[in-house]
Amino acid sequence: MSNKNVFTRRQAIGGISAGLASLVALPAFSSPGTSSSTDVAPVLEDPINKYPKPPFKEQSQPWPGLAGKMEPRPDHGETSYKGSNRLAGRKALITGGDSGMGRAAAIAYAREGADVAINYLPAEEEDAKEVIDLIKKAGRKAVAIPGDLRDESFCQKMVAEAVKQLGGLDILVNNAARQQTKPSILNISSEDFDATMKTNIYAPFWTTKAAVPHMKPGAVIIATSSEQAYDPSAELYDYAQTKAATTNYVKSLAKQLAEKGIRVNGVAPGPIWTPLQVSGGATMEKLKSFGGDTPFKRPGQPVELASIYVQLAANDGSYATGQIYGSSGGKGQP
Ligand code: NAD
Ligand code: MG
Repeated sequence: MSNKNVFTRRQAIGGISAGLASLVALPAFSSPGTSSSTDVAPVLEDPINKYPKPPFKEQSQPWPGLAGKMEPRPDHGETSYKGSNRLAGRKALITGGDSGMGRAAAIAYAREGADVAINYLPAEEEDAKEVIDLIKKAGRKAVAIPGDLRDESFCQKMVAEAVKQLGGLDILVNNAARQQTKPSILNISSEDFDATMKTNIYAPFWTTKAAVPHMKPGAVIIATSSEQAYDPSAELYDYAQTKAATTNYVKSLAKQLAEKGIRVNGVAPGPIWTPLQVSGGATMEKLKSFGGDTPFKRPGQPVELASIYVQLAANDGSYATGQIYGSSGGKGQP
């Protein structure tokens, strides 16, 4: 699913001679001798047909699932995301950075000039290796910190390790989460409920508490919330309430940390094509028609949210704190 919808300079000039100059964005042309990344002018892309639509193939993986085994493979921006130095020299820690939104943020951050540490579960090493390679290929430092966030002492060690290896911490993305679909509250064991709360509520609390003392004015905390915070599904009783809690902590913490110059914001995705959905996050029925109930009639791809994570981390977004940025194909809030 690479982004092939670009005009090369030669095609664009051909277009001008054919009387199509109005279609071409002239300011994007480079003068001879400049790098090829500026040698293309993006064309308008129709968001409706840009990515795969349902019906999707039946598939299921044991939790937490691997992006590399999904059909079709999600697009995290591996071939398409282009940076422009917006985060040069920043130091970022992303939980759940091996796949999904976390991976899209990791690739984008590295290509924007940041050094990036990613956390993930040991079972996700295969996905994580690909991300580490992509960060290195962008010319940035990559730090892998596998481990289970349901353990307070691990959260503290993870932050300490990131600070040590990166030489500080400017961007914390609390993104990892557990989502398991259950038809009824009667099917949710106390162990299930506890695992969801530990992953989605306790881990960001422990991680943020360990990170804040290292953060300087200008640093940011970004949480991944969900449309579930506003419009919970019947079969996501435990997960949905953790996302309401996430949205709430963003707003509380933003007020609290404003005096330190630390901004706190959140991202609220709609249905996005990630391993979370194929490893127990959605029923098979929902998965086959995933995203079909949005106005765009398709799920989002992780890369479509990458620039939001960049914007929330960048210096030029300095007046945004306590905000939730949505991306849900026209469905749901905010
Ligand atoms: P994903 O499966 O790619 O990412 C979730 C990650 O959480 C996993 O990669 C895993 O590394 C991590 N994780 C889970 N439990 C962990 C634990 N105990 N210890 C360490 N890491 C753990 O799926 P995703 O959809 O990209 O999820 C990222 C975020 O997006 C989550 O917060 C999720 O709630 C949110 N979200 C997803 C959707 C969607 O439709 N995919 C919609 C709204 C919100
Ligand atoms: Mg994963």
